[in-house]
Amino acid sequence: MTFDLDLFVIGGGSGGVRAARLTASDGYRVGLAEEYRMGGTCVIRGCVPKKLMVFAAGFSEAFNDAAGFGWNVGATSFDWGRLIGAIGDEVTRLEGIYRRNLENAGVKLFDARAVIEDAHTVRLSSGEMLTAKHILVAVGGRPFVPDFPGSDLVITSNDIFLLEQQPRRILIVGGGYIACEFAGILNGLGSEVTQFYRGAQILRGFDDEVRGHVADEMIAKGINLHVGTDVMSIEKTETGLRVKCTNGSVNEFDQVLYATGRIPNTDELGLEAAGVKTGRKGQILVDEYSQTNIPSIFAVGDVTDRVALTPVAIREGAAFVETVFRGNPTTVDHKIIPTAVFTQPEIGTVGLSEEDARDQEPIEVYFTAFRPMKHILAGKQERMMMKMIVSRETRRVLGVHIVGEAAAEMIQMVGIAMKMGATKEDFDRTMALHPSAAEELVTMKEPVRTA
Ligand code: FAD
Ligand code: NDP
Repeated sequence: MTFDLDLFVIGGGSGGVRAARLTASDGYRVGLAEEYRMGGTCVIRGCVPKKLMVFAAGFSEAFNDAAGFGWNVGATSFDWGRLIGAIGDEVTRLEGIYRRNLENAGVKLFDARAVIEDAHTVRLSSGEMLTAKHILVAVGGRPFVPDFPGSDLVITSNDIFLLEQQPRRILIVGGGYIACEFAGILNGLGSEVTQFYRGAQILRGFDDEVRGHVADEMIAKGINLHVGTDVMSIEKTETGLRVKCTNGSVNEFDQVLYATGRIPNTDELGLEAAGVKTGRKGQILVDEYSQTNIPSIFAVGDVTDRVALTPVAIREGAAFVETVFRGNPTTVDHKIIPTAVFTQPEIGTVGLSEEDARDQEPIEVYFTAFRPMKHILAGKQERMMMKMIVSRETRRVLGVHIVGEAAAEMIQMVGIAMKMGATKEDFDRTMALHPSAAEELVTMKEPVRTA
C-alpha cells in the first residue's frame, strides 16, 4: 500500500514538533496539523509566558529588598498592558521560529484541525484527506473546570495571558502547580489574591514538609490561602463576581481563575472510529514505546497522561522517532524527573518524597532550613529549606527537595547526580562552593530522623 506521507503528526506542541522535525530531517515525508498556534501549550499559553510573568512578579520583592543594600528605589508602578503586550510579542516571535524550523526541516504544515479517519488516514478541517504510514497523536490537554452554578463565569490559565486588565481582586481555585504559580505571580504583580484549595494542604503529591513550608511563605507574602474550602456558586453583579463558598462566606472578586487540572484533548478526535483505546480520563493508552493498540498509531505528551511536563513530551517524541524511523527501539525513563514549581519561593524537587520513600524502604532524612545571606540585609524573615532522603541500605540519594531562590536551577544539577546513582557520601565528598545556598546540599551532616 502506498501512502501520501510517512508520518502525520496531529498537534504542533512540544512532543509533536520534536517528532516531526527529527523525522523530516532524516528525509521522510512528514505532515503536521495544528489547529491553534504553532508551539503548543508550553510556548503559547504555558511554560514560556508563565515564566516571563514569574520574572515580572519578582521585581516587587527586589525593589523592597534593595533598600537594605543601600538603594533608594523611587516610586514604582506596574503596567499590566505593557507586560501582556511584551509577552505576546515574545510568544509570536517564538511561534515564528517553531514554524520556520519545521518548514526548514521539510515538514508540510497544515493550519487545521485533524481528525483520525482510520489507522492510516486523517481528515483536516480544510476538507483535505491524507494517508500516512504512521500517525502520531500529540494533541496535549486543556484546562478542566468542574460544573457548578456560575462555572461559565470563570477563566482558566488559557485566558490569563490575554486579559486586558489586571484583576484587582482575584480568586484562584486549586492547589496544584498552576494555581500556586499564578497565586504567586498575581500577588507579586500587586493583585489581591485569595486561593481556595479543597484538601488539607496544597501541592498534593509533593513532600509534606515542602508543602507546609511553601504554604507558610505564600501566606507570609500576602496570599489569602484557604484550605479545605471550595466554591459553591458564582454570580455576576454590577461590581464583580460574587462567590459563595463551602465555608459559608460570600466574597466579591474581579476574576475567578480555575486551575483544577487538565484533561486530554481526545474528544471527537476519531479515536473510537479508528479503534484506539483510551483510559478513564480520555487519555490515550500506550505501551512503553508510545504505541497504541493500533500498530500504526502512536501518542506522546500530555494526551497520554504519563508525566505532563514539556521535556517529557519532547523526550517521548524523540524516542518515538528512534523507535519507528531509526530502527532503534527506545523507551523514556519516567523516573527521577527533576521538576520545579515557580511559586515564591520556588520549589525544586527530584525523586521521592519522604512519605513515598519510607513506604518503600528504610531511610534517613537530612534537613536544613536557614535564612539565606541575601535575606539578612534585605530584612526578610523568609527561610530556605533543603531536604535529602537517603536509602539506609544502599546509601543512594532517593529524593532532594529545595525551596528558595534558584531551587529550579539547583535541582536540575542534583538530578544528574541522582541519575548517576549518587550516594549521600558522594555528596559529602564534593567540596562546598562558598558562599552559596547550594553548598548546604553537601554539608548536611547528621540525619534529623530515620524511618
Ligand atoms: P501541547 O503542547 O499541549 O500541544 C498540543 C497541540 O495540539 C496544541 O497546540 C493544540 O492546539 C493542538 N491540537 C489539539 N487537538 C488538535 C487537533 N485535533 N488537530 C490539530 N491540532 C490539535 N511544563 C514544564 O515542563 N514546565 C513548566 O514550567 C510548565 N508550565 C506550564 C504552565 C501552564 C499554565 C500550563 C498549562 C502547562 C505548563 N507546563 C509546564 C506543561 C507543558 O506545557 C505541557 O506538558 C506540554 O506543553 C505538553 O506538550 P504536548 O506536545 O503533549 O502538548
Ligand atoms: P494539578 O493536577 O497540578 O492540580 C490540580 C489541582 O486542582 C489540585 O489541587 C486538585 O486537587 C484540584 N482539583 C481537581 N479537581 C477539582 C475540583 N473538581 N474541584 C476543586 N479542586 C479540584 O493540575 P494543574 O492544572 O495545576 O497543572 C496540570 C499539569 O501541568 C501539572 O500537573 C504539571 O504536570 C503541568 N504543569 C507544570 C508546571 C511546571 O513544571 N512548573 C507548571 C504548570 C503546569 P487535589 O489535589 O485534591 O486532587
